[in-house]
Amino acid sequence: MENLGERLAAVRDRIARAADRVHRDPASILLLAVTKVFPASAIREAYQLGLRDFGENYVQEFDSKAPAVADLAGARFHFIGHLQSNKTRRAAELFHAFQTVDSAKVARRLDEAARPLDIMLEVRLSVEDAKNGADPAELPELIAAVRQCPNLRLTGLMTMPPWSENPEAPRQIFRRLRELGELHGLPQLSMGMSHDLETAVEEGSTCVRIGTALFGKRTKG
Ligand SMILES: *Cc1c(COP(=O)(O)O)cnc(C)c1O
Repeated sequence: MENLGERLAAVRDRIARAADRVHRDPASILLLAVTKVFPASAIREAYQLGLRDFGENYVQEFDSKAPAVADLAGARFHFIGHLQSNKTRRAAELFHAFQTVDSAKVARRLDEAARPLDIMLEVRLSVEDAKNGADPAELPELIAAVRQCPNLRLTGLMTMPPWSENPEAPRQIFRRLRELGELHGLPQLSMGMSHDLETAVEEGSTCVRIGTALFGKRTKG
């Protein structure tokens, strides 16, 4: 099995090649290392290889890992899971950024924590994944609600297409997210994961969320 350093180099190379095809600067694409299910030592190892941004899906799980990574200066933790409103208070203490805000209620609860937080709105762009994310038609209202929160800084949009083995399958969804970002003046787009990052980068992603391609297969989560 190759080590994390080799896998990281391979992921960076994939991002660079995809960016090159569409004449984008690879430095404009954040590599978010998704460490859910993996131990705090995985975060530390990735940090030592130069990564600074980490994505976690579960408040409780990260709560238990956070003390072991509290000394990593400059590390930023992004929440990318589904946020339950009873966990927002603790979540606002643990994370710097939230990519999956999809209701004004959750936004206001995060704002109440009185910490400066970066916010992305999760958008639901297919009928198949009917569970999380705001409907595009709800965006104007949601954007206005977040902008009224003094502690929240709205940076962009995020989407998670339905799972498909085919990395081309989500192209239209990624394109639609970019169009919505342009429409609403939100330049940051979190889209693309291990198997479809090339498609996402070609369609304008500014943040790819990579778990499996860096850390290997997850046994749960
Ligand atoms: C787990 C997860 C990822 C990482 O997926 P991989 O296919 O392992 O790269 C990205 N985004 C979200 C929202 C996730 O839950």
